[in-house]
Amino acid sequence: MKIIIILLIALIAVMVFNAVRFKAADNGPRTVEDVKVNGDRAQQNLSTLIKFETVSNADYDKTDKAVFAAYRAKLKELYPNVTAASEYKELGNTAMLFKIKGKSSENPSVLMSHYDVVPVEEDRWQHPPFCGEIIDGVLWGRGTIDTKITMVGIMEALEDLLADGFMPENDLYLSFGGDEEVGGISAPAIVDYMEANGIKPALVLDEGGAVVDGVFPGVNKPIAVIGIGEKGIAQVEFTATSSGGHSSTPPVHTAVGKLAKTIVNLENKPFKAQVTEPVAGLFRKVGPHSPFALRMVFGNMWLFKGLLGRLASVLGGEINAMMRTTVAATMAQGSKQHNVLPNVATANVNVRLLNNVNQQQAQAHFDSVCSKDVTCRFISYQDASPYASTESQAWHKVEKAVGDTWRDAIVSPYLMLAGSDSRRFSRICRDVYKFSAMALSKEERGLIHNDNERIAVEKIDQCVEFFHRLIVQL
Ligand SMILES: [Zn+2]
Repeated sequence: MKIIIILLIALIAVMVFNAVRFKAADNGPRTVEDVKVNGDRAQQNLSTLIKFETVSNADYDKTDKAVFAAYRAKLKELYPNVTAASEYKELGNTAMLFKIKGKSSENPSVLMSHYDVVPVEEDRWQHPPFCGEIIDGVLWGRGTIDTKITMVGIMEALEDLLADGFMPENDLYLSFGGDEEVGGISAPAIVDYMEANGIKPALVLDEGGAVVDGVFPGVNKPIAVIGIGEKGIAQVEFTATSSGGHSSTPPVHTAVGKLAKTIVNLENKPFKAQVTEPVAGLFRKVGPHSPFALRMVFGNMWLFKGLLGRLASVLGGEINAMMRTTVAATMAQGSKQHNVLPNVATANVNVRLLNNVNQQQAQAHFDSVCSKDVTCRFISYQDASPYASTESQAWHKVEKAVGDTWRDAIVSPYLMLAGSDSRRFSRICRDVYKFSAMALSKEERGLIHNDNERIAVEKIDQCVEFFHRLIVQL
């Protein structure tokens, strides 16, 4: 008994020590140089670019190629210094690749964005989706957040730097795709080109995280989350069979019943929660700013391994999705008529995989939940990306530019839950980061791919500031 009490006291001492040490790691204030931004020009140029209806289509032949070509010409015209200082190439169907020569070619960087947008339902918008109008300090239009703003941020920053005679330390590439939303061939074409020419980027930055509020319970500061990886994506089909016939004389379980049971099994048996690298990084960064109890948990994860599943659920949907392979049943079909027993019933499941769960392991998990007469197979499968470093020079450059621009924010790695073109670059670069240079409220994040997408104009300035601070380090 005595020993248990001593052990308990020692344990609590270790936990408190860790929690306090965690807090002590917090950084003090630092001085940051201001960046001059030509805010009017940035707003006007973004407004101009929003007016191009660059809606991509999975079938490239159905894409309005003239609009895309006009957009590319306009972008180059709006930024004459960048255009004059670059070697320029078009690759794939729609990709633009600018190369700005640096003092060295040893550690090149790639800044990415895409200029295609998802379709709109025009009558649901308060202002026309391609109006590009600025109303009460807010710029309206499809593509403002996702992600013509980051393209403008990169171009504005570089345009002014070049005017002042700037030359980057290392070669700088700008890679702009026009078919990201439909998983097109542009980004892969750029990666192929770079690989064929022996270009190995030390840093790639594309859209992804943002400066967000209210994601962690009890944390009052904004958190700037930089994606260091993306999950894999798969589509799995479950099929149940049964003898058909008239519904007036049914068996105990029809194909639909068997299928339903399997789907319930699937939901009741989630993949195991784990502290992935991005989540460990997030806990380390956010820990010092969280309430004491959470700080204690974050600082002593080894102790709470058995409770990870519960913890993931308590911390909410996004954190949960960063900690495990997730499964969502999205489609189902039985017979074509209400009084006909189905011979076959199918359900489709969307799977988002952590990068230490491969297709065979996922298949084994799915097989284990299938009830009698139910089988499952993968229809499509795409690997998760490896994780970028959070110790490298590349990381510290991005971290510094973010921290200097959003000075009250905690800067942290995270796992990006959506997909982006940048995953293609993992083939030729370890340090691929995903950060959309904006502070976005929950409501604003909800506007992405939604009606009434719009952005407050002061956020354009911050976006330019961020890219300026990053580019001068590259
Ligand atoms: Zn996007």
